[in-house]
Amino acid sequence: MEITTDDPDLRNQRLEHLAPILAGHPHVCLSCPEADGCTRDECTYGNPPEARCCEMFGWCELGRLVDFVDSARSLPRRPVAVARAAVVEGRIRLEWGLCVGCGRCVLMCGTAEPAGQALEMTGGGLWAGAVTARTRKDSLRTSGCTFCGLCVLVCPAGALSAPGEEGARWLAGRRERFRPADQVLPPQVLRAFDPASLDAVPRDPGVFELTDLQGQVVTIKGVADLREGLAQALTDPACGGAAFFRLELDPLFTQRESELLARYAREHGHLPPASGFDDDLFADD
Ligand code: SF4
Ligand code: SF4
Ligand code: SF4
Repeated sequence: MEITTDDPDLRNQRLEHLAPILAGHPHVCLSCPEADGCTRDECTYGNPPEARCCEMFGWCELGRLVDFVDSARSLPRRPVAVARAAVVEGRIRLEWGLCVGCGRCVLMCGTAEPAGQALEMTGGGLWAGAVTARTRKDSLRTSGCTFCGLCVLVCPAGALSAPGEEGARWLAGRRERFRPADQVLPPQVLRAFDPASLDAVPRDPGVFELTDLQGQVVTIKGVADLREGLAQALTDPACGGAAFFRLELDPLFTQRESELLARYAREHGHLPPASGFDDDLFADD
């Protein structure tokens, strides 16, 4: 049997499924030319706060999916304002207006051993005709939540999150303890980390990520010249275990490096082994 995961028909189907999600979810910051370095407190283009991206900007799974499925930006990108009321219980922040109705949290909460069957899906969603998640009763606590954090770990959007550095630490601990299955993320183009591969690397600013044979990230680094930066990494003993690299072109490479390191730290509770100490990211005020 031959399994195909990429042909024109599949690409069209992915776009067809993504279109209604984008039509009901704030996404305008994902394709904004001013996005790098923008705090989203003020909007150059006058987009209302309800249509701007959330604190997950730069590392949400939905954003990565949008980049992969609609890299040509063929779907309409327009301001989509949704109800942005949020509540925080314990370490968990709930913002149902950002729910895309994937159902992962309900499945996890209803079937995983440490979870409390506190969530359910509703057809009376926050945007017309949508299905979204919600608590079974008024709050997480009254619904029987055990604060295992599994719903936050599987949510692809900003509907369930653990804000701040303390939230990131807590979530990393939950991941370590309960070990939910790895997310299935859009594929990335990995190249062999050897001198022969560097000739094809542009001498442009950007960020590279080195991974070992098991796919574990060794380091993430923003540099003014990608080819030179990778050549230096080849001679760096700290990067000795690296087998592959991937790269992103980005003139604001320092900013992008910080975003990718912050995303890694949120997911793992520490920085990649060859990226130094995590004092800056988790420093106390
Ligand atoms: S989860 Fe947040 S950052 Fe990601 S697309 Fe939605 S609003 Fe934007
Ligand atoms: S944290 Fe609460 S709502 Fe989330 S999966 Fe665990 S028990 Fe369910
Ligand atoms: S995992 Fe997140 S996006 Fe999916 S249904 Fe639950 S709250 Fe909504």
